[in-house]
Amino acid sequence: MSLTGKTAIVTGSNSGIGLGVARELARAGADVVLNSFTDSPEDHALAAEVGQEFGTNVRYIQADMSNPEDCRALIQQAGACDILVNNAGIQHVAPIDEFPTEKWDAIIAINLSSAFHTTAAALPMMRKAGWGRVVNIASAHGLTASPYKSAYIAAKHGVVGLSKTTALETAREPITCNAICPGYVLTPLVEAQIPDQMAAHNMDRDTVVREVMLERQPSRQFATVEEIGGTTVFLCSDAAAQITGTTISVDGGWTAL
Ligand code: NAD
Repeated sequence: MSLTGKTAIVTGSNSGIGLGVARELARAGADVVLNSFTDSPEDHALAAEVGQEFGTNVRYIQADMSNPEDCRALIQQAGACDILVNNAGIQHVAPIDEFPTEKWDAIIAINLSSAFHTTAAALPMMRKAGWGRVVNIASAHGLTASPYKSAYIAAKHGVVGLSKTTALETAREPITCNAICPGYVLTPLVEAQIPDQMAAHNMDRDTVVREVMLERQPSRQFATVEEIGGTTVFLCSDAAAQITGTTISVDGGWTAL
C-alpha cells in the first residue's frame, strides 16, 4: 500500500500508539504531522528522526487537544490533511462519586471533543482534495465498560458514535471514517507499570502480564503499536474504500467474551 503524496496528521503522537501509527503511515510513504501539547527540542528531533528513517516529510506541530482553537489550528497549520488520526488521550481512575470534575472535563475534551474539532476542520480539506480517511483511536472501552473509568468510557463510546456520524455525513464521498478499538497495547506507559505489578503480586513478568494485566484479554498477549499502525494503514488503503462507520477491534478477543 503506497500512501505517497498523502499528508497524515496524528494527534498525540510523540509517544505510544500515536507514534507507532505515525511510523507505519510514514513507512507506507505518507508525509506525517506529529503532535502533542509540548514543544520541546526532543519533539522536533523525533519528527526529523522518523522522516529520515522512512524518507518522507515528517513535521512536529504543537497543539493542545484540550483546547478547541488549538485543535482547529493544528489542521490549518498543517496546510493539508488527507488522513486524520485522532489518537490523543488521557485516563483517570476513580469511582463516580469521587471523580474530580476537572478530570471529567479534561478527559471529555481531549479524548472526545478534540476529534470533533479536528474532523470539522479537516473535512473541507478532504473534500477539496477529493479523498480522505478519518481514523479514530477508540478502545475496547468504546464498546464495553469497566468500573472506575466513567469519563474514559463515556468519551470512548462517544468517539464510536462520532465515527458513525462522520461516516454517514461523508458516505457519498470518497471519504471514510472508522474507529479502531484496541485492547491492552504495550506502550511505554504500560511497560512502566510491569515492575510495580510484579512487586505488588510477587509474580514474575510473564505471570503478572498473563494473569493480572491481561486477565480480560483472552489471547493473554498485548497488542502492539505496530499492529494498531498496520490496521490504520489498511483503513487508508483502496481495499478499505467501502469500510466506513464501523469499529475494528484489535483486542485479542476481549469484546468476544
Ligand atoms: P500515551 O500516554 O503513550 O499517549 C498519549 C498521547 O497523547 C501522548 O503523545 C501525549 O503527549 C498525547 N496527549 C495527551 N494530552 C494531550 C493534549 N492535551 N494535547 C495533545 N496531545 C496530548 O498513551 P497511549 O497508550 O499511546 O494512548 C494513545 C491512545 O490510545 C489514547 O486515546 C488511548 O485512550 C488509546 N488506547 C490505549 C490503549 C493502551 O492499552 N495503551 C488501549 C486502548 C486505547
